[in-house]
Amino acid sequence: MRRIAIVGAGHAGLQLALGLRDAGYAVTLLAARTPRQVREGRVTSTQLMFGPALEIERAAGLALWDEDAPVMPGFEMTYWDPDGQPDVPEARFTAPFDDEVRSVDQRVKLARWLELFEERGGRVEYGEAGPDDVGALARSHDLTLLATGHGGLSSLLGRDARQTRFDRPQRALACFYVHGAAHEDTDPVSEDARITGVPPVGEVVVMRALTVSGDCDIVFLSGKWGREYDCWDDRPDVADGWRRALGLLRRYAPWEYERFRHAEPTDAGAALYGSVTPVVRHPVAAVGGGRHVLGIADAVAVHDPITAQGSNNAARAAARYLEAVLERGELPFCEEWMRETFDAYWEGARHTHAFTDLMLTEPEPEHVSRIMAASFAHPEVARRFTNGYADPASYRDWLIDPKGAEEYLARFGA
Ligand SMILES: Cc1cc2nc3c(=O)[nH]c(=O)nc-3n(C[C@H](O)[C@H](O)[C@H](O)COP(=O)(O)OP(=O)(O)OC[C@H]3O[C@@H](n4cnc5c(N)ncnc54)[C@H](O)[C@@H]3O)c2cc1C
Repeated sequence: MRRIAIVGAGHAGLQLALGLRDAGYAVTLLAARTPRQVREGRVTSTQLMFGPALEIERAAGLALWDEDAPVMPGFEMTYWDPDGQPDVPEARFTAPFDDEVRSVDQRVKLARWLELFEERGGRVEYGEAGPDDVGALARSHDLTLLATGHGGLSSLLGRDARQTRFDRPQRALACFYVHGAAHEDTDPVSEDARITGVPPVGEVVVMRALTVSGDCDIVFLSGKWGREYDCWDDRPDVADGWRRALGLLRRYAPWEYERFRHAEPTDAGAALYGSVTPVVRHPVAAVGGGRHVLGIADAVAVHDPITAQGSNNAARAAARYLEAVLERGELPFCEEWMRETFDAYWEGARHTHAFTDLMLTEPEPEHVSRIMAASFAHPEVARRFTNGYADPASYRDWLIDPKGAEEYLARFGA
């Protein structure tokens, strides 16, 4: 039986570990935390997932929350100038999602997947792995994968300077999971997922989700450095952080303040503060003795969460890598195979990276501003922009490419 080691029991590591286990491989998974520690720990993401990635989980038999996790019917985008007319948005559109969109708290999902892996005979070693452990695993397994997310060990995979645009985080991030928000049910399309952007300051994103204690709302603040949403360096406890977030909503997204003013954090781990440096790394690292390890998902390419893509990528990467392992049969998992496996995944994922880098660019490129302006004026553009999140490769020819954007806008006389 072929032996495969996976370091990191996050989204990609667990999905792949379960797939390999089901296919009869002997899988060793290194997990930093037990299911209980994950469930009782801090939130780690907003993990909004779109139709194609949810379908991958379903096909793998891992969509265990289809009955419980709310489906968001659509999306509202508002631009606002708080120094302009009081409480009047500058621009707003709503657009339906063409496919299902959900968010299941990673604490719920990954804790259960880890239990499932053990129930199905997978071997888990608990604790933080170090570089020496990775080398030892590579020597004792046919294939070793680094699925360590954007954490420290992923730096074993060197930075790919050609594909990496930023050398520091672009946003200050904070998110809160809360119960008790007011749901007005006036427009079902905009009821569950909204963004309010105040261009110089940042965005507030709100969405429905399933958490450890049932349905909740997530409020996610993505702040430009040195501006008002960049105020979390002291890492307040959940209650203080939420009070501070409400103060910001009151000033910068007053309609959200009205909905959330009576809401309370769901639990003691319901706040996340941090930042992400977007980076693309080389997918393969030599670890001595002629052995190599292969990175997957965030371990290789990390995006800022502004475009809500990392979990979707993790699902795609795990599915693609599983397919490649199965196709390989008894042949060795050599360095060349590792590179080809990553390249096949990157063929699609590079568009996601390009899209995210584009949305972080300051000042906003002119063609992006014009597409956004057209979204506010033309429902067809708003719908196309909204649904592109499900597969950012679809943005390639009309949003990522300035010339394509011009041609598309010409259809609207814009
Ligand atoms: C604030 C925020 C909001 C986000 N919102 C969204 C969103 O709405 N939609 C979306 O698609 N994505 C979103 N993401 C991104 C998404 O959460 C990640 O991209 C996704 O979880 C990546 O999966 P992964 O398996 O690569 O890494 P992870 O899920 O991060 O898993 C890595 C695992 O490796 C483990 N690990 C790390 N180092 C070691 C070690 N030395 N030894 C053992 N284990 C180790 C960690 O404990 C973790 O379990 C968001 C991220 C953030 C920070």
